[in-house]
Amino acid sequence: MKLALVGIGKIALDQHVPALADSPDWDLAATVSRQGRVEGVEAFTRIEDMLAARPEIGTVSLCLPPLPRFAAAQAVLRAGRHLMLEKPPGATLAEVHALADLAAAQGVSLYATWHSRMAHAVAAAKRWLAGGTIREGRIIWHEDVRKWHPGQDWIFEAGGMGVFDPGINALSILTEILPMPVHLAEADLDFPANRQAPIAARLDFAQGISADFDFRQEGRQTWDMEFVTDAGRLALRMGGNLLEIDGAAAGGEDSIMGEYPALYAQMARLVRAGASEVDLAPMVLVADAFTLGRRNTVEAFEF
Ligand code: NAP
Repeated sequence: MKLALVGIGKIALDQHVPALADSPDWDLAATVSRQGRVEGVEAFTRIEDMLAARPEIGTVSLCLPPLPRFAAAQAVLRAGRHLMLEKPPGATLAEVHALADLAAAQGVSLYATWHSRMAHAVAAAKRWLAGGTIREGRIIWHEDVRKWHPGQDWIFEAGGMGVFDPGINALSILTEILPMPVHLAEADLDFPANRQAPIAARLDFAQGISADFDFRQEGRQTWDMEFVTDAGRLALRMGGNLLEIDGAAAGGEDSIMGEYPALYAQMARLVRAGASEVDLAPMVLVADAFTLGRRNTVEAFEF
């Protein structure tokens, strides 16, 4: 099946292009980007031009930042094409509800992806936790914004989500593996004096689970979650890729390279089945953190 990739920036080149090159399902037939290009693939700078010129491309995958995503997503769905969205699926919840309604009306597939849910140990962690009782949990998601989002000023603009851009990955795993829903009780958000989105956040969920997100981590990066349950202790490390039970290695693989091939395989299944997958649970938690969170002003941040 032919697919067009839109927003040729960091994640498109790091993950989407290699995943598509190896995919048995997809042929990368065009790109849309003002500057970004993929060698050997026809390049457009405006999405409307690509949609008009290449009617045989049935699916479009958007790798734009969340703010410019909605207009492009609407154009794709109105043109009757299937649509795959990078996370977070929009700048607001209402945007994504509108896209889900439009996809249903147009009879096309919409996939709001959560790449971290495809990490190697997530399914095993979900199976282990099923039916158990969780007494407490702790998420530590500390990474270096300069390494993963070099010069990306959009991430600190209003609607860019700041540290919730990676933090929502942790929340996508949390809402996938837990045997019960969670909701936010309290939050503290740290906004750099010169920015519109938080650089760090601490969340407390009513179910005894806490989360600590920080974008200022240099050196070793930490993407861990730990749970104490009636049946023992479970930990997920390396962003859901490694599993530990009671402190001992219990599976997974220390690599993030399986996530995007798994997303594109799922998109192929959805298109063939005429189905959509849109789970907004991680984004609801982020929206609630912005609603409930206490705001602290911290040191100005420059890339
Ligand atoms: P990026 O490199 O800054 O953006 C992707 C491309 O979008 C840009 O190169 C730009 O290409 C295009 N674009 C169109 N309108 C834009 C605007 N108003 N502002 C900035 N860029 C615009 O970002 P990214 O890191 O690839 O992230 C894109 C999405 O992928 C985000 O939702 C992010 O959460 C997600 N993601 C990122 C990572 C990561 O490690 N960086 C990991 C997983 C998921 P042109 O200038 O050529 O049009």
